[in-house]
Amino acid sequence: MKQLTTTAGNPVGDNQNSLTAGERGPVLMQDYYLIEKLANQNRERIPERTVHAKGSGAYGTLRVTNDITKYTKADIFSYIGKETPLLIRISTVAGEKGAADAERDVRGFAIKFYTKEGNWDLVGNNTPVFFISDPYKFPDFIHTQKRDPRTNMRSNTAQWDFWSLSPESLHQTTILFSDRGLPSDLRHINGYGSHTYSFINKDNERFWVKFHFKTRQGIKTMTNEEAAIVVSKDRESSQRDLFEAIENKNFPKWDMKIQVMSETEAKNYKYNPFDLTKVWSHKDFPLIDVGVVELNRNPNNYFNEIEQSAFSPSNTVPGIGLSPDKMLQARAFSYPDAHRYRLGTHYEMLPINQPVNEVNNYHADGSMNFSDIKQESGVKYEPNSFNGPKENPIYKEPSLEIFGDADRYDRTLDNDYFTQPRDLFNLMSKDQKNQLFGNIAASMSGVPKEIIDRQMALYEKISTEYADGVKRALDV
Ligand code: NDP
Repeated sequence: MKQLTTTAGNPVGDNQNSLTAGERGPVLMQDYYLIEKLANQNRERIPERTVHAKGSGAYGTLRVTNDITKYTKADIFSYIGKETPLLIRISTVAGEKGAADAERDVRGFAIKFYTKEGNWDLVGNNTPVFFISDPYKFPDFIHTQKRDPRTNMRSNTAQWDFWSLSPESLHQTTILFSDRGLPSDLRHINGYGSHTYSFINKDNERFWVKFHFKTRQGIKTMTNEEAAIVVSKDRESSQRDLFEAIENKNFPKWDMKIQVMSETEAKNYKYNPFDLTKVWSHKDFPLIDVGVVELNRNPNNYFNEIEQSAFSPSNTVPGIGLSPDKMLQARAFSYPDAHRYRLGTHYEMLPINQPVNEVNNYHADGSMNFSDIKQESGVKYEPNSFNGPKENPIYKEPSLEIFGDADRYDRTLDNDYFTQPRDLFNLMSKDQKNQLFGNIAASMSGVPKEIIDRQMALYEKISTEYADGVKRALDV
C-alpha cells in the first residue's frame, strides 16, 4: 500500500474526518491537510487555450520510409527505417474546452517530434490553407469565431461580415463548408503543416517545403444532421474514437509526404509560395514520400500530458527552418507567448514538453524554475571563463536574399483568391457540391442581406455554378 502524503511528503493519518474542536465543534485551522486539499482544488483549472481549447492527443512514432537527405540534414530523416517518438494533439479551433467534438470547424493537427537535436514541432491543421495571410488580421478573425460580446453566443453575422470583407478566406471557407469541414472523428482526416517551411541540406542549400499527412484510414465526414445526432448522444465523440481505437490496438496511421520547391522556383512561381491562403499544386510540385506516422499509446493523465503539452512552430531543428510566411513568423512569437501565459515561464521544463537532449542556456530564475538543481555550473552569463555552453556555427542557417523596401504591402494587390477555390470546387462531386451549398446557406442564417450579397459577389468570381448553388440553397 502506498502511504498518502501532503505535497511535502508528510504522511497523512486521516483523510476522511476533519480535525474539530469536540465531536460537534468547528474545524480547527491547524488541520493543514484539509487546507492543502481545498487550496489545490481552487487551483486545478488553468487558462484554456484562446484557440484550439478542445483537443485529444496520443503518442506514437514517425518511421522514415524514403531518403530525403538531399533536401535536409535533419537527423530525424537521416536514414530509412529511423524511428522518432512523437506526440500528436488534434483539436477544434473555436469551441471552448467543454465544446462538443462533432462540430463543423477546422481541426488543429499539432505534432511534437522528440528528436535528439531538440523538439521539432509541426503545428498545422487538417486543411492545407488558412483564412488569412496577414497576422494583423489574426486576433480579429478569431474574435469572429468566438462569442459575441453582447449576446454571449456565436455569431453567423460576425463570421460572414469578416469573410465577405476578406476575400483571401474563400479557399479555406470552401473547405470548411465542404463535407471535409465536419470530420467524423480525428483518425479520418489528413494533416497539413500548412505553412511553407525550409529545409537545409548538408551542403547548406535551402529548399522550401510543405508537409502533408495523408490518413491511411481514409477520409470520413458527417453531414450537419448526422453530427447533430452524434452531439445529442456524445459530446466527446472524437476523444472516445481516438482513445478507444488506440486501446483496442487499432493504431491510426498517416503517410507523411512533402512538396519541395527550390529557391529559384519560388522566385518564378505563379503564386507567392509563402501565402498561407494558397496551396502548391501537386501537378507543379508532386508529393514525395517521407515516412509513416503511427499513434500507438494513450496518455495516462490527460491534463499532464495533453492539456500541458505546448507546441510551437518556433521549435525547429538543424535542417528545418521557417520561411518568409508572415503568418508563420507571427505564430513563432505568439505560440510560445501563449504557453508562457497559460502554463508559466518554464513550460518547456514540464515533462511532456522536455526535449530528450540536454538543454543549456543562460536564462535565469523565473517562477517554478526547477532546472538549476541539476546544473553543474552556476554561470548565468556569456562570455565567461567557466566552460559555460557555447554556440556552434555549424548550426547557422544560410543567408536569405531579401529584396524590396520595408513597407506595408497591400494584400489586395495579389488578388487571385478565386482560382484555387475554383480548382477545389471543380474536384467536388455533385453530392459534395450540394453539401457545400447547403452548409453555407445554413451558416448564413440570420446574416443581414447586404453581407450575404457581398459574399455572393465573391462566389460569382469563383464560378456562376458556385454562386447559383448557394443562392438556390438560400432560397430553400
Ligand atoms: P490535385 O487534384 O492534385 O489535388 C487535389 C487535392 O485535393 C488532394 O490532395 C485531395 O486530397 C484534396 N481534396 C479533394 N477533395 C477535397 C475537399 N473536398 N476538400 C479539401 N481537399 C480536397 O490538385 P491540385 O494540387 O492542383 O489542387 C487542386 C485543389 O485541391 C487546390 O486548389 C486545393 O483547394 C485542393 N487541395 C490541394 C492540396 C495541395 O497541397 N495541392 C491539398 C489539399 C487540397 P485527398 O488525396 O486526401 O483526397
